Parts: sequence; C-alpha cells; structure tokens
Amino acid sequence: MSDRSQVITFACGALLGATAAGAAAFAIAKGHQRSGDDVTDKSVAAPLTTAARADVVNGASVPEPTGAEEEDAKEKPDNAPESCVGVSSEQAGKAASCAGCPNQSLCASGEAKKPDPAVADVKDRLSEVKRKILVLSGKGGVGKSTVSAQLSFGFAARSMDAGLLDVDICGPSVPRMMGLLGQDVHQSSEGWSPVYVDDHLAVMSIGFMLPNQDDAIIWRGPRKNGLIKQFLTDVNWGSLDALIIDTPPGTSDEHLSIVTYLQDAAMDGAVIVTTPQEVALMDVRKEINFCRKVNLKIIGVIENMSGYVCTSCGHEERIFAPSTGGAEDMCKQMDVPFLGRIPLDGRVAQAGDAGLPMSQMCPDGPVAKCIDRVITAILNQTDSK
Ligand code: ADP
Repeated sequence: MSDRSQVITFACGALLGATAAGAAAFAIAKGHQRSGDDVTDKSVAAPLTTAARADVVNGASVPEPTGAEEEDAKEKPDNAPESCVGVSSEQAGKAASCAGCPNQSLCASGEAKKPDPAVADVKDRLSEVKRKILVLSGKGGVGKSTVSAQLSFGFAARSMDAGLLDVDICGPSVPRMMGLLGQDVHQSSEGWSPVYVDDHLAVMSIGFMLPNQDDAIIWRGPRKNGLIKQFLTDVNWGSLDALIIDTPPGTSDEHLSIVTYLQDAAMDGAVIVTTPQEVALMDVRKEINFCRKVNLKIIGVIENMSGYVCTSCGHEERIFAPSTGGAEDMCKQMDVPFLGRIPLDGRVAQAGDAGLPMSQMCPDGPVAKCIDRVITAILNQTDSK
C-alpha cells in the first residue's frame, strides 16, 4: 500500500471508528434505511456527527497530500524532466531521461505504478451493484445533474433499486434535485448509509455534509480524489440494479480517479449530456475521446435543451442553434449511439428545484418519455453484455 493510500485509509478508518462507536437510535425519516431491512446490531446507523461532517467538509478526513504523495498520483511528476516516460511506462526509472531525476529509484523499483489497493476495495463494495453508469458532460450547465437525477427517479419508478452518487464535489446540486435538502448521512460499522428518497432510491453527496448549503468547497484535485475514493469504498449501497454517478463537467482528475478506482468493478459505460450548439459539442468530442482512451463504453449521447416549443402557438425555436448539425450528426460522425433529445422546458427546471421526478410533474411530456427511452437503451445495452 502506498504511503498516500495508507494515510487516507487510516483517516477513513478513524472517521468510521470514531462515529460508529456512538451509534444509537435514529429516525427513519424519508429513508436513511430501507423499510423491511433486517437491522442487526452491526448495521445500526447513527447520523454522522457534526464533527465528522466538518472533518469531511474541511477535508480533515482526506488529508491534503504531501508533495511526494501528489506526485505519486500523477503519470508524470512535476519535478520530472520534460522527457519523462511516465510512471507506468516499462522504461520508468530506466530510460536515459530518468538519469538525475529525483524519482528514478522509486520508478525503477516499480513502486510508482503499483495498483492502488482501493481498486479491490471498490470492487468488493460494489459487488452487488448490477450496473454502474457514469453521467458526463463537456461543459457545466448543460443538464448533466438533471439527467442524472431524472434517470435515477426513472429506474426507481420501474421498481428497480437505484443509487445516485454525486461526485460533483464543488457543485453538488443532487440533494436539492432529489428533494433531500437538509438530510443527514448516517453511519454504522458497515460504512456510510446513503440517504433514501424511498425504498428504491438511495443518494450520496457531499452536499449532505455541508452545514450551510452556500459553503464553498475549495479543494485541490488530490483531496477531491480522496473523497471520491471514500465515497466508492465506504458507502454501503447494498444491492442495486443501477448506480448512476454524476460527475463534474469536463475530463478532470475526478474522472480519472473514478475510472481508475472502478477499473475492476465492471463499469457499464457513460451517458454523455450536451446542448446542441457547436461550442458545447466541441467539448463532447473530447469527452468521447476520453472515454475511448480509458476504454469506457459510451452508452450514448443525450441532446438537452434541444428546442423550445411555445405553449401558445406551437412554434419551435432552436434557442441553442445546432450550427454543425447538433448532437445527432456528431454521434453519426463519431460512431456513438444517439439517445434522444430533451426540449428546453421550464417544468424541467421547476422539477429540479422542487426535487421531483418529471414522470410525476408531467408524465406524458417529452422529457419523461426521453428519460424512459434512455433507461430502456441502458438496460438493452447492459443486459446484452
Ligand atoms: P449541469 O449538471 O450540467 O451543470 P444542471 O443539471 O445543474 O446542469 O442544469 C442547469 C440548470 O438548467 C438547472 O437549473 C436545470 O434545472 C436547468 N435545466 C436542465 N435541463 C433543462 C431543460 N431541458 N429545460 C429547462 N431547464 C433545464
């Protein structure tokens, strides 16, 4: 185990141990525990204490890595020469360019590319989760969290057990979109219990740990990755039909972490959300290339805010003009499935603010239908594996 993993594992263990000791009676308000679950002494959960929540939010449970630990996490350490071959290369520590590099002996020993033990922990933790789906977007504000929330509601509406994991650490909108603002994460000796919308739908987000929803989380990449690891290894999802992972926009450290930690956990693929204009599609092409680079299957692309239909006259206005053909054309060019369009519709924003499923707000509307089609596509693709 690397020093960095040891530090983080120790911190997680300390956090769990400290609060699990105080486990006592707890309210079964809007879930926290699925009804009908057999509550044994071992699994009795108590709300995360204020101190433990503060530790997570302040980053104390995920210590700021030292310079050496940070470098360990990178393919090319900052202090490596320009021509560094990368810590995973067969030539690491042996290439001519390694001479004089302060990392040479670490690379040559193979220590630098040892697999993180968390990979096996994540596999174990998610062993009863049938489908693991990432929701990605090139840009922020295109509706990625909205789609993640509505997909999760949609799975649950089919009486399937779904989980929604919000790893958009700096902008956690999932608690509000799921109608769970103000709810607490509970903790037992088996880990963190997600917050339940109902018996079929479990949610985890750093948003549940913020004492004040307006608090800003200003963390550098390695600390965010530490929390992602903690979410993947410590949350007790139990058995799920689908786990939807809402990621931050772009392709950043967080995405690499998720893909790395889930490498042995049989991830099913990614749903990519975009708006139709070229400025958004430019970033989606990068997202598609990222998925190809890390061997992540692309389940398909959803075009959101696709057009606005006037409720008075029925005229459709393409507010974000698809100057290069929109997402469908891009999908054809890049040979990825196109999953459908979601129109710009004020009720989608209202549903998000109110934490409601579109299937409840507007059951026969185009949004609920598109989400339903996407779920069918996910099930067809993941069941034919
Ligand atoms: P992202 O996760 O990509 O940053 P969000 O899902 O938070 O984006 O959506 C940004 C805002 O746009 C939210 O207020 C959301 O309710 C709204 N929104 C998303 N999709 C639609 C839509 N199809 N019609 C109207 N508003 C939408």
